[in-house]
Order: sequence, then C-alpha cells, then structure tokens
Amino acid sequence: MKSNRVYRIALFDGDGIGPEIMAPTRSILDMVAERIGRKLEFDSLPAGARHYAETGESLPASSIAAARDADAILLSAMGLPNIRKKDGTEITPQIDLRFALGLYAGVRPVKLYAGQPTPLADPRVFETDFVLIRESTEGLFAHMHEGQVVDNSYATETLRITRATSEKLFDFAFRLAQRRAVKRGIPGRVTCVDKANVFRSFWFFRSIFEERAKAFPDIAADSAYVDAFAMWMVQKPWEFDVVVTENMFGDILSDLGAGIMGSLGLAPSADIGDENAVFQPCHGSAPDIAGKGIANPLAMFLSASLMLDWLAGEHDDAALGEGAAIIDDAVSAVIREGTILTGDLGGTANTKQMSDAVMSRVAA
Ligand code: ATP
Repeated sequence: MKSNRVYRIALFDGDGIGPEIMAPTRSILDMVAERIGRKLEFDSLPAGARHYAETGESLPASSIAAARDADAILLSAMGLPNIRKKDGTEITPQIDLRFALGLYAGVRPVKLYAGQPTPLADPRVFETDFVLIRESTEGLFAHMHEGQVVDNSYATETLRITRATSEKLFDFAFRLAQRRAVKRGIPGRVTCVDKANVFRSFWFFRSIFEERAKAFPDIAADSAYVDAFAMWMVQKPWEFDVVVTENMFGDILSDLGAGIMGSLGLAPSADIGDENAVFQPCHGSAPDIAGKGIANPLAMFLSASLMLDWLAGEHDDAALGEGAAIIDDAVSAVIREGTILTGDLGGTANTKQMSDAVMSRVAA
C-alpha cells in the first residue's frame, strides 16, 4: 500500500532490557506501517541512567524539545539501581517527562489474554478488559516534596484537586469510553473512584465528575469508594470499562491491576496530556536479566499498539487503529497458542523467539 501520511515518533531506548525490547518493537511498527499504508519516522533520543553516567545529564533539554515536537513518544524502561544522582535518588526521566509535558492522564489498561497466568481462578477473569486512568500531576502527589514532620510529633501532607485538571481528566475518560464503545460494540461506562464519603476534596472531585458526565449522555457514569472498588477489582474485574481516579489511589490500584494480570511483562501504559503522550511498558529496566536476551517484549509491543490507537484518535486516522489491532491480535494469538512464551509466562522462549512469533502474525 502507498504511504500517504507520515508520523514522527520520538524513541527513548532506555536502560537494562530497554534496548533489547525496543529493537523488535521498532521492526513490528515498520511492518504494521507497511500493512496500513502509513509511514513512521523514528528519532532516537538520548536519556536515561547510562546517558547520565556518561554525560552527567539524565534527560537533556534537547531530548525534551524533540519529544515535545514529535507526534508521539515511545519509551522503553529507564533507570538502573547502581547509577544514582548525588542525592541518592534513581534516574527517572520517564517521571520528569510527565511534569515537563503536562501528562495528566496515566492510562493503565488491565486486560487479560486467554491462556496467560493469573492468580484469579474464576474463568470470567479472561473477559477482563478495562482501563484505569490515574490522574498524574496532582492529588496527593501535588506537593510531594513539601510534606512536613513537625516537632517530631506529627506529620502532614497536602492533597490538591483542581477543577481545571479534573475537568480535562474526566473529559478524557468519557471520550476514551466513547471510542472503546465503538470498537467493542458494547455500551460505554466510566466509573469514578474516590473517597467522597469522608473527604471534601473527593466530594469536589466527584461533583466535577457528575457535572462532566452530563456532557456525555451516551456513556453510563457511576462512582465507587476506593475501598469497595479494590475488593471488586479482585472479585469481578470483568465488569469495568473505564475507571478514573486520583493520583495516589491510581498508584495503588494500577499495581493491583498488574497483579491480576499475572505478569509485568504484559502490562503496557500511557501518560497523556493535551499536546503530548508517552507510551511505555509498566515494568522497569530489569537489570537482573539485562543482556541475557530473555526479557518478555510483549508489554513493549502492547505499548506500541496503545500509541497507534491514541494517534488514530488524535489524527482521525482509522488505519492507525487497524494497526493497533494487528499488534494486539498477534500478541493475543501467541499467548493463546502457548508454545512460544518467555519465562515470566511459564515458557522457555527467549526475546527473539517471542518477537519472531509475534512478527510472523503481524506479517500475515
Ligand atoms: P522500576 O522501579 O524501575 O519500575 P522495579 O524495581 O519495579 O523497576 P523491574 O525492573 O520492573 O523492577 O523488574 C521487577 C522484576 O520483574 C525483575 O525480576 C525483572 O527481571 C522482572 N521483569 C521486569 N520486566 C520484565 C520483562 N519484560 N520480562 C521478564 N521479566 C521482567
């Protein structure tokens, strides 16, 4: 197919297993672009722990500027435990990017693929396919370096909810539900998770949610308290569609989601703002297995799929949505078949074998 639209993708190869899982992801994206008649131009940008060790900079201003200019940003795992800043903290350019680019919506899909390991026994768990949206710039993290311990007798932290960010966050959640409803052929639903029965800030959060819900009458809207919702995530995770919550609750619930999914190697993520979006696997740079060629590349492939899906919506380009589905279907088929799986999924395959298995389905 002749390519008529070009998308510029900023790439951060990352540290540890990062480059090992980025290389096959790039090949898969090239194959998908060819199939759907689009062109992807990749720009590899320096950042990360290795870069810091070599240059003293973890995320150069020139990399931020180039990432800001790109249509989307694809990022592999970053940071290494033995390379730290002078104050002892790890290198985290992926977090710095969230603040630099105002990426307020942390998108954490919780989806299970038939045949994958999961700690839950109910067979309906394989129908689980919801998206948790974690507000990523405020809530209990808004003043994260300003908490106080007073006279060694008490400590305080501040939770901040703003109308401006909450409105954008809820609109994002409802629009995502609309797109998922079309794709899945079932009515959309957004659930706001909070603690509005106890905290005024969460009552404010919920009241803004209810206001914004009125603008999306085609999408069902309901709310849940975070404690009950945590229980339901274990008891009936297949019942949810889009779930939206505050930063700290999202931090905890997204790990619960990863727990249900059984393996970090299958969990993609996105951090989305008004102008920019970063896509990356939920896992870290896995230094314990780096260089061995055995990392599971699927979370990285699924992050690339999420990126195409987001670009499809941003540019009203359905072909990119088809590209996302090609990757998702290929991953799903490899897991269902169950013969070529990496160690974390109970198999013995290496990164190359697993990548080749997905690629052969992408090429089909
Ligand atoms: P970070 O703090 O950077 O998120 P982390 O300390 O949570 O990192 P990870 O790097 O995510 O740790 O690794 C946690 C464990 O999961 C390690 O044992 C690692 O080998 C394993 N792991 C992570 N990603 C993968 C992967 N893609 N394939 C196989 N195993 C993985």
